[in-house]
Amino acid sequence: DNAIAYAGSGTTITISAYHQSPYWHFTFSDNGIGIPQEHQPRIFERFFRVDKGRSRKDGGTGLGLAIVKHICLHYGFDLHLDSRLQEGSTFTITFHPNK
Ligand code: ATP
Ligand code: MG
Repeated sequence: DNAIAYAGSGTTITISAYHQSPYWHFTFSDNGIGIPQEHQPRIFERFFRVDKGRSRKDGGTGLGLAIVKHICLHYGFDLHLDSRLQEGSTFTITFHPNK
């Protein structure tokens, strides 16, 4: 949903799951505008949005990624963001099936 809303028109969105024993990784990638380095440490905070003007127009509340983070914390999943400006963003959820 975020990639559709923010990454930009014409962006390719890729969702994948792969096994790297014993871990499973689920990735959500786009090759859109990316998230500036200085904002990445706060991206999972409640109500945090990179571009408040644009996000308001798009109707975001800034809660989506905070909810994702709390679900991951609850289940003990690892959540990671890798993003570069103008190159795109990849969110990765990793879990250990035996934990
Ligand atoms: P909500 O999800 O509650 O409707 P939201 O989308 O604004 O609102 P988050 O999902 O937490 O909230 O995202 C926070 C901010 O991170 C977004 O407002 C946007 O600025 C930025 N963002 C998230 N995903 C991407 C992405 N794939 N590409 C560029 N910016 C992103
Ligand atoms: Mg969102």
